Amino acid sequence: MQPQLLCIEKACDYCGAKLEVTAAEVGGEARPHRYACPQCGKDYEVTAAGNPHVRVLKPRTDGKTGSYQQTMF
Ligand SMILES: [Zn+2]
Repeated sequence: MQPQLLCIEKACDYCGAKLEVTAAEVGGEARPHRYACPQCGKDYEVTAAGNPHVRVLKPRTDGKTGSYQQTMF
């Protein structure tokens, strides 16, 4: 049986880094998993069966080195 992988390419809304997110699509119940942009730490969510793995395809493009600040209410 072949493992089924979900593969998403996404640009980070905050820093512009291009990310590749892979996660198992089978082998469990699909539910939202949180992952963070490795370049700035902004939180995202993906619906998959397994924990997502994030790879940076292109570094951030905003020219900053700071981390995304989550706004707490
Ligand atoms: Zn980012």
